[in-house]
Amino acid sequence: MKRATARFRQQLVLLAALCLALVWIAAAYEILRSHQVYIHDSEVRTSVQAHVFAEYSRSTIKRINEFMLDVRSRWNGDWQAFSELVLKTQENIDDLTFQVAVIDKDGILAFSNLAKPTDRTDLSGREHFTVHKLAGNTDRLFISKPLMGKVSGKWSIQFTRPILKNGQFNGVVVLSISPEQFAGFARELLIGEDSVATVVRASGEIMARYPTAESSLGLILKDRPFLGASAPVSGSYRQIAASDSQERIFGFYTLPEYRMHFVLGESLRDVLAPHVVHRNEVLAVATAVSILIAALFFILFRSLSTRDTIAQQLGAIFELSPDGFVSFDADRRVLSASPAFLRMTRLRGAQITGLDEAGFSARLASLCVEQARFPGVAALRAAQPPEAPPAEGGGRDRRHLIELAGPGKRVLECGLRLSEAAAVSQILYFRDITHETEVDHLKSEFIATAAHELRTPMTSIYGFAELLLAREFGEAEQRDFLGIIVKQSQLTVSILNELLDLVRIEERRGKDFTIERIDLHELLHEAAAEFRPPQGRDAPAAPTAAGPFWVNADRKKLTQAISNVLSNAYKYSPAGSAVEMALTQTPGQGNSAARVCLRISDHGIGMSPSQLARVGERFYRADTSGKIPGTGLGMSIVREIIQLHGGELELASKIGEGTTVTVSLAAAQETEPALAAVRATAAKPGS
Ligand code: ATP
Ligand code: MG
Repeated sequence: MKRATARFRQQLVLLAALCLALVWIAAAYEILRSHQVYIHDSEVRTSVQAHVFAEYSRSTIKRINEFMLDVRSRWNGDWQAFSELVLKTQENIDDLTFQVAVIDKDGILAFSNLAKPTDRTDLSGREHFTVHKLAGNTDRLFISKPLMGKVSGKWSIQFTRPILKNGQFNGVVVLSISPEQFAGFARELLIGEDSVATVVRASGEIMARYPTAESSLGLILKDRPFLGASAPVSGSYRQIAASDSQERIFGFYTLPEYRMHFVLGESLRDVLAPHVVHRNEVLAVATAVSILIAALFFILFRSLSTRDTIAQQLGAIFELSPDGFVSFDADRRVLSASPAFLRMTRLRGAQITGLDEAGFSARLASLCVEQARFPGVAALRAAQPPEAPPAEGGGRDRRHLIELAGPGKRVLECGLRLSEAAAVSQILYFRDITHETEVDHLKSEFIATAAHELRTPMTSIYGFAELLLAREFGEAEQRDFLGIIVKQSQLTVSILNELLDLVRIEERRGKDFTIERIDLHELLHEAAAEFRPPQGRDAPAAPTAAGPFWVNADRKKLTQAISNVLSNAYKYSPAGSAVEMALTQTPGQGNSAARVCLRISDHGIGMSPSQLARVGERFYRADTSGKIPGTGLGMSIVREIIQLHGGELELASKIGEGTTVTVSLAAAQETEPALAAVRATAAKPGS
């Protein structure tokens, strides 16, 4: 039972641990999944947005290109007319703010729509000029790196095309656009505060950036996945920015025809912000569920402990119960037997557990004597009167007596109780009533003996009294008869007195004793002095040993016991023979205390061993001559008194030689509380 409970507890602990582990594995999985989803979403989003950014920029470049193709063909050196033309044409691209300029074939600024050039501005050293001049008659669009304007002092990207006259290089038309304008469309795409859009040339140079950061313009990027000849057109990557130490997820798209890369980055912090919220929610839910699980298991453990305590209590009660029980399961097979039942029957649990009714009944019946056999479980059930009201607890019962065979008669009272519990169909119970039966028997025997003993003298009294009434007798005869009546009356009185004495001593069991520390030596002298020996006989010889001999005893009762023994010593020894008393003390050994022994010896008729064995039985008289008066109760009283003092009584006797009665009592110790010591001994079972 205990082992099963421990195993169940272990399984519960494992289950609790498993539940908690599952909750946290699920939480960890969900957090990881959400993290990956947000990262993946961002990778996809930034790639797509980079593509959109690139496509939009492609169309912008195309429009710029078309614009330049249109206006360069109309350049004829007339500043005023060209200015109007530019203004008019510019209306078609009103979403962009840009500057248009023309550089003549020598590199001198010939036209600018911002202001009429007054100074001779030499731009012959600029890349966007030289690249076309060196190319000769090749007509292509050139897009410069970001430049600080000589005139405006602002950053700009130059889109240039050569002006060809008769197929020969005759200048360059320039369209300047600020990097901010060029990358401005990214404003529509970026989601987070820390998001960034960048336009990078194939050489790694940053052409434009949104939000604008002038310090980064012209910087050269290295080791980016979109750089290099074999780099993919689109993709994504993660990088920590050197400028603000922010980790970002970047998506890119390359326009190979313009040798430009469009890169969009979202800050990881922004990307993961909703994930952090979700993660916190998941952690909160997991914590709440864990607390709930822990609380549930705690309650379960508490109720398990309560159940254990109740089971242990019941077990202890069951163990201590003097009544025996045998329970039967729903199929009426023996489920369990209580320790008391196994003790009574000397059966082992394994011998009966699982037996059906018939098997169990046969087994128990085989242990009984013929006259009081176990009637069988089925018979007990059948004997239940159908009209009987159900006993408390739902069952009905009727009691039977059975007697177990073997040494020492054992009488058991048994009954059957039907049960309404699902697991238990019925319970057999057994009560050991051997002692009660014996006590009943002894009582009846005692009453019968006492009545018989009283009837003998009463018969004499009645007979002689009747005789005296019926006839006339002479004076001498009358006196004889009256003498008999008086003698028998005395006997009756002494029987009744001794009986009353005995009954009182037995009933009080020493509770009315007044225990005190007594010198037995002194008590013996007093008892000897008070004792009246039969006429013509010497007083008993007092002990020669020097006192004191301390014992804890009730003075009156001990004197009564000594006087009874002395009375026997005189009664059953011839006149002239001596009665001696002796006192000795034996020292204590190990756990046994020192003892004081009192010996009273006579040289009388003595007793045979069989007679000696019965001395102390009520009304037993070894001498059946009838010449010595007595009731046969004296030694019973002595035995009771000595036992209640925790002492021992021993008799030694030989026919024709005499008898020695030895009474031994524990020697009183200086520190011992007298009353408690003797009470404790007197209260011992069987004493
Ligand atoms: P009473 O009740 O008057 O004492 P009783 O002396 O017969 O009667 P017990 O003192 O109980 O009864 O003794 C029981 C019997 O034991 C006696 O009848 C006697 O036969 C025997 N007996 C007791 N003491 C002695 C003894 N010292 N010598 C020989 N027989 C004895
Ligand atoms: Mg006697």
